Amino acid sequence: MNMRYDIAIIGSGPAGLSASINAKIRNKNFILFGSSELSPKISKAPKINNYLGFPNSNGSELKEHFKNHINTMDITITEEKVNAIYSMGSYFALMVNDKTYEATTVILATGVEFTKPIKGEEEFLGKGVGYCATCDAPLYRGKVVAIVGYNKEAEEEANYVSELASKVYYIPMYKEEPNVNSNISILKDTPIEVQGDTLVSKLVLKETTIDADGVFMLKDSISPANLMPGLQVEDGHIIVDRTMSTNIKGCFAAGDIVGKPYQYIKSAGEGLIATLSAVSYLDKNK
Ligand code: FAD
Repeated sequence: MNMRYDIAIIGSGPAGLSASINAKIRNKNFILFGSSELSPKISKAPKINNYLGFPNSNGSELKEHFKNHINTMDITITEEKVNAIYSMGSYFALMVNDKTYEATTVILATGVEFTKPIKGEEEFLGKGVGYCATCDAPLYRGKVVAIVGYNKEAEEEANYVSELASKVYYIPMYKEEPNVNSNISILKDTPIEVQGDTLVSKLVLKETTIDADGVFMLKDSISPANLMPGLQVEDGHIIVDRTMSTNIKGCFAAGDIVGKPYQYIKSAGEGLIATLSAVSYLDKNK
């Protein structure tokens, strides 16, 4: 049987980190998903002047402070990407590639998605379009798959799919030279539209169109509505109240993902509120 966490925190930016230190202080059994590099939005900031206590700072400095803080509190980051979360009534099931985690409450702190979906992407989601190649690869045994990789990590997923599919096209959306298996065709092009009838049949790119049974869009973050079915979203942001509660019982959200202003200190503050609300939910539902 899976161990059931009190709180699963998704995202290692200021919102998720703040949620995690407060979960630790409250002595909860929690898991924090994200990256040991924390968040590119922390490390890339050239100058930070509005984070209380750290004047004249910059992203790499703030990142080190954040890292020290969680290390001091013995908080570890589970370096995995959560692909989907399902509410099971009294708990949540979190899908991470071939694993499932369980938690009584969830805090979504995934940041904002800047990559707009391409035409047809949302329409064909689950009908040939997917966000996790390793999860769905067995469906494409002997078939043609196009993989749009928004980061280097997508290469590993492409390699895995190429062991099962009859043909894999890899479309890198980043500048570095991709390093993928030799049986994968690399297309340096821009995807424009997913086409099909009831299921995906084509991926239209700027320069060419390819026949494909499956199209994987491997992005840094998944839109909240796709991450958790049933979640109320408006203009790409999760709708929350002042307690950072979403419309789904036991699910809370914090940081850029719930709306502007996009700022570190707001995200950190909301992470704190989300944890306190999760704690009071846990206490009430003991
Ligand atoms: P993020 O920092 O975006 O973190 C989200 C994390 O969740 C990421 O690590 C991501 O990889 C992870 N994640 C997403 N989906 C999943 C998943 N499915 N599974 C596991 N992990 C997942 N703000 C200021 O206040 N002052 C500034 O000076 C400032 N300068 C900035 C400069 C730049 C160049 C940029 C880009 C932003 C700047 N910001 C600044 C804004 C600030 O970076 C954001 O508001 C803040 O990082 C948001 O924090 P967050 O925790 O909500 O999300």
